[in-house]
Amino acid sequence: MSVGSSFLEQVNQAFDRAARFTHHDPVLLANIKACKNLFYTSFPIKRDDGSIEVMHAWRAEHSHHKLPCKGGIRYAPTVDADEVLALAALMTYKCVLVDVPFGGAKGGIRLDPKTYSVGELERITRRYVFELVRKNFMGPGLDVPAPDVGTGPREMAWIADTYTQLRSGEVDALGCVTGKPVSAGGIRGRTEATGRGVFFGTREACGIGEDMKALGLATGLEGKRVVIQGLGNVGYYAAKFFQEGGATLVGFAESEGAISNPKGLDLEKVMAHRRERKSVLDCPGATNLAHREEALELECDILIPAALERQITAENAPRVKAKIVVEAANGPTTGEADEILAQRGIMVIPDAYINAGGVTVSYFEWVKNLGHVRFGRMQKRFEQGAYSRLLESVEGLTGRQFTAEEIERVTQGASEEDLVNSGLEETMVGAYHPIRKEWKERGGKVDLRTAAMIVAIDKVALSYQQLGIFP
Ligand code: NAD
Repeated sequence: MSVGSSFLEQVNQAFDRAARFTHHDPVLLANIKACKNLFYTSFPIKRDDGSIEVMHAWRAEHSHHKLPCKGGIRYAPTVDADEVLALAALMTYKCVLVDVPFGGAKGGIRLDPKTYSVGELERITRRYVFELVRKNFMGPGLDVPAPDVGTGPREMAWIADTYTQLRSGEVDALGCVTGKPVSAGGIRGRTEATGRGVFFGTREACGIGEDMKALGLATGLEGKRVVIQGLGNVGYYAAKFFQEGGATLVGFAESEGAISNPKGLDLEKVMAHRRERKSVLDCPGATNLAHREEALELECDILIPAALERQITAENAPRVKAKIVVEAANGPTTGEADEILAQRGIMVIPDAYINAGGVTVSYFEWVKNLGHVRFGRMQKRFEQGAYSRLLESVEGLTGRQFTAEEIERVTQGASEEDLVNSGLEETMVGAYHPIRKEWKERGGKVDLRTAAMIVAIDKVALSYQQLGIFP
């Protein structure tokens, strides 16, 4: 492992490490690893004060073994070709691990959204979409973006609107982007999906007694001490579901600083304090840490980096005290740090699996858009009627009358959100076991990241083999 390798090299090194354990033709492996399309554009944008600024934007489509391609759009000062190529490759492996039938993609614009007005951001977003559409880098059957760092439902609504303006009459146009507001063709449960998926996946891993015993931990999430870096979309919802699931949140890091309390922090109180003071620091009941990075080294059972890539490095990995690192962010652990954590017996639940809840529910949103009907709309009343008749039969057979509360609880038909959360849980739980099986069967020769990558490579290889080569 070369010291100081780029994010893309980090992802490719993980690929190479796993590829050695497979028996695929080296040419096939090279084809899987290579990015299929990389789009770069620059365009001028008029700022509110009348000045003109040149924006730099990218979109990478890593794999076309399944179409459309899928991946978020990031607005951050760090965005460059290397970053989108790395993130697009991760998307391919992520989609395949959770059986979402998309190739991986990622896009981004190099900007700090905090330094632009809403009107400027809207103009930048619409122009970016225009450039993507005219180069065939966007469309419900081609390439479907989603939110990532610095973007959210607001940007996705602008993207959907711009696309539908450009492609008027295209019946499936709303499927051109996911993560939209519900009122603009989005799906209930998408906003929380990545954090909820992080919770489901970690609960599954922590539910296996044999693996927890090896780490010196009790089975289950109850009482586990958790530290979270980043309280944005992913980190906040992960924190919320871990707290509801019985874990104790003992530390948070945000860009302005970090706080801790070994006895536990109340998430909603911290969020309210941050909204009011624009900072997590000086939150009642918490101690400020001298540096925000110190949160990564706090005494805890589970460390969840949920902010940005390359946060756990060769420098701080020796001081990480968690027994489990849950990679809610993409690429938070450098290759060098990965080796150190593995040597220290720390379990790393890899990004390609654990943060796949977002793309899973994006897939449900895309299916909903193509189907033009809300999940649950057809069957909710039918289910209610069927459950009511069943209860009436039980009442008839037993002579016992159910209370109104019992009837209400049992006869509720599934809403869209119930179905989305059920599909997400099924996906995250089901996807963990093939990865764990690969890990266990290799008897300690690989870590979970390599095991996940082996599973992903095998699946993409099978697709390419079955598709053959055109022409
Ligand atoms: P976000 O912009 O909503 O949140 C990121 C948070 O991290 C922000 O609150 C920011 O202030 C904070 N932060 C930035 N630098 C920090 C630092 N040095 N220390 C502590 N906090 C810092 O972004 P997000 O959508 O939550 O994405 C977070 C990570 O999860 C990214 O790596 C992203 O690629 C990944 N991810 C996101 C999704 C999704 O659905 N949004 C899905 C999969 C993976």
